[in-house]
Order: sequence, then C-alpha cells, then structure tokens
Amino acid sequence: MAEYHKQIAKENPKLNAYLSVFNKPKLETRNQELETNFLSGVPCAVKDNILISGEKCTAASKILKNYIAPYDATVISNLKQAGAVFLGKTNLDEFAMGATGENSAFGPTLNPHDHTRVAGGSSAGSAAAVASNLAVYALGSDTGGSIRAPASWCGAVGLKPTYGLVSRHGLIAMASSLDQIGPITKTVEDAAIVLNAIAGHDPMDSTSVNPEWDLPDYTANLNKPIAGLKVAVPKDFFSVPSGSASVATSAKEAALAKEGRGLDSQVNNLAQAAIAKLESLGAHIDQVSLPMVEYAIATYYIIVSSEISANLARYDGIRYGYSTSKAENLLETYLKSRAEGFGAEVKRRVMLGTYALSAGYYDAYYLKAQKVRSLIKRDFEKVFEKYDVIVGPTMPYIAPKLGGLSDPLSAYLADIYTAPVNLAGLPAISIPCGFIEPETSNQKLVTRLPVGFQIIGKHFDEAKILQVAHNLEQSGK
Ligand code: GLN
Repeated sequence: MAEYHKQIAKENPKLNAYLSVFNKPKLETRNQELETNFLSGVPCAVKDNILISGEKCTAASKILKNYIAPYDATVISNLKQAGAVFLGKTNLDEFAMGATGENSAFGPTLNPHDHTRVAGGSSAGSAAAVASNLAVYALGSDTGGSIRAPASWCGAVGLKPTYGLVSRHGLIAMASSLDQIGPITKTVEDAAIVLNAIAGHDPMDSTSVNPEWDLPDYTANLNKPIAGLKVAVPKDFFSVPSGSASVATSAKEAALAKEGRGLDSQVNNLAQAAIAKLESLGAHIDQVSLPMVEYAIATYYIIVSSEISANLARYDGIRYGYSTSKAENLLETYLKSRAEGFGAEVKRRVMLGTYALSAGYYDAYYLKAQKVRSLIKRDFEKVFEKYDVIVGPTMPYIAPKLGGLSDPLSAYLADIYTAPVNLAGLPAISIPCGFIEPETSNQKLVTRLPVGFQIIGKHFDEAKILQVAHNLEQSGK
C-alpha cells in the first residue's frame, strides 16, 4: 500500500490521474473470511462519478466540486465486502462526456506512454492509473466507450458489461439508457475477478436485471481453448481507411475524414493480426455487415444529449453543489449556477438535448433516433444468430496529441466502434493488441503507443468474450 502511495505522490502531479487520494486507505469490512478472496487487500482506484460514502465525488465538474457522497454505490459496497482497498478517485471528462479526458474541470489526464498525448476518455484517470501502476485495477463507467477508449489508448484491459448486469446505484447519471460500470485492469483474468465481485441484481437499480439463471464464475472458462469459435468481422468497421470520407455524411465530416480521422492503416494492420491470431487458435472467421452502424454516431449523440439534458436538470444551484453568489432571485440562481458551474461540453449537450426533446422536434430527432437504435440492435442480433463474437479495433487511431480532438465533431466520431455496442446494450472488452510508433520529428524521443482490440459478445455472454480475450492475450506472450 505504502508503495502505491509513494508512486502516486511521485507520478500523479504529472499525470493528473487521481483527483483525490485517500490518506488512510479504506479497509472497511475486511474480515478473516475474506482473506481468501482475490480482491482482499488489493488497491483499487475509482472513477470520480461513483459514490464512496463520506468522500468527495465531483464528476470532474465545478458544479460538484465540494460534493460529499452520502452513501456507497452498490459496486463500492460489493468491493468492500470483497475486502478491496480504495486508493482514491480518478479524473474523467466532466460528467463522463468526452473521448479524451480533456473535458475535466480539473485539467486533462496525460497518457502515461507519452505525456504530450491524451489518456482517452472519459475514464481517463482510471486507465492511466492502471497503466502506470498507480493502482492494481480501477472502476470506470461506459456510456459510449468511456471504459474501452482510455483502456485502448493507455494499454489496459477495459470491460463494458451488458446493460443491466452491474448496478448503477450510486453512479452519477449521464445517459441512463446506456450507462454501465465496469473494470479497467492489467489482465483479462483481473477483469473477470472484478466482474465476479460487482455483477448481480440490485433492487436499488430498476434497470438491474434479475436473471433466472445463476451468474457464472467469470474466471471459470478463461483457459478453455477457442477452437471452433465463430467470429464475425464487420466489414463496416474496416471500410473507413485513413483519409477516406466514407464515414462522412456532410462536407464537414468529409473534411475531417481527410485529415485522417478514419481508421488508421497501422491500427487496421494490428487488428488484422489479432484476427489472424484468432484463426490460428482454431476460430472460424467470416466477414459480416452491420449496415446501420453508419448511423450509430448520429443516433448516439441525439439519445445521449436528450438523456443528459434530463439527468442534469437536477443541478440547479439549490439541491446539489455549487450555487452562485450573484443571483437576486430564484431564476437567476438556476441560470447563473448552471452557467458558472458547467463546462462547455456539458452545456453543448444540455442545449442539444433540450432542443431534440422539445415540442415540434421530438419526432424528428429523439423518436427517430430511438427507431434507428432498434435497427442497430437488430443488426447485431442478426449477426449473433450465427456467430459467437464480433471483433474489430476499439478506436480508429492511437491516442491523439493534447488538443488534437478539440473540435467536438471529431471527438464524437472517435466513438464509431464503441457507441454502437452501448446502443445495443451488449458487453464488450478492449484488450491491448500491439503498439505503434508514431512518426516524430524528434528522433531521440521514440514512444510506443498502445492499440486496443475489441471483442463484442451476446447479451450476458461476458464469460465468452473474457475467454476469447484471455486466449488472445496469452497467445501473445
Ligand atoms: N465519448 C463518448 C461521449 O462523449 C463516451 C462517453 C462515455 O462513455 N461516458 O459521449
């Protein structure tokens, strides 16, 4: 433990992975019986949108800067029961809105592999902490990719469970039809161990499922060979080569794609190598099509913004957190507290969402997006009638330079492979599949940036994606 604290004191001022560090790690309900539990005494970092009773929970927003959590999130109670030790709370994009970690009101988290680059968002601090050995594992949340994106860009394992498998009670809500909590770890086995501790029904979360079957031990099948596994590779994931405008639906998007915002050719190569590896392990590989995925980003951002505008209405300067000192009446209290407390990306989404939900526009935007969401779901269901898993790259390119994704649209397009999975409620894992050495003018400064490979499964088939991920991970050793 002391080692971790020393390391955090040394590295965190540079990385900005932790927003708060607990001086006395919470040992809580550790008891003798738990000494055999894998997580007992193991230091863990928690994204700062998950409540730990008595500790600050800021969601990286000025509006919650001094907010103290009044209770434990269910995942925290679960981990406490398993004997976990909490090191502190990690940085994120404000209210988990972002792909880079730069939307935090408390400064960006830097990528541990290259401090001139972003860690990825929104669970930026969680992934950076795990990747730089400032925690053994971390909790993140994933609404459109926020566990998998930073895991991919920092070189960690990130698992987004099936919608409803892990309780969100005590998670600060972003978009409630999409949000899920999951682990960021160094190995696939660790992800399975953490999932064992946090999965399961919770009456405090009405979207938590209460399955009729027993949840499996997620570590049980890790070593089972994958010979005969049916793997689908969506050609739609690969038809966006760097410099192509095929994801573009407007001139502006086309221009962005020309700047290299499509699938990077080296990322493509590493993803193809991972697929070849699966084949050499005995898997059957087929190309499939997910034609509606093309509309996933537009659909996701309508739905996400709409739900954000509703969920964030509660931050009114009275019930929670920051309250302006400059108001003369109630309306001014609302308006000024929100204007002063929220950052630019949060405001953008509240406005977009309010617009999309407003009378006269609801049918054209929100309702339409819900219909397209059903079609996207159906695309996945069709593929899963014949295949066990769907695979591809997690992110279209390596971690960008700080400020490199500063226009909102290009940041939104980074979610192209991750957001469709949330729209369909499916589980997915990102595991490291290699490194890229970006070209640099400074020959002395050779950095290697990690690349992530995504494995998507059927609803509640976490055991399968963990098995595939573990086989792939071990084959690379
Ligand atoms: N990049 C996505 C967004 O900004 C994902 C965020 C998330 O998963 N919390 O909405």
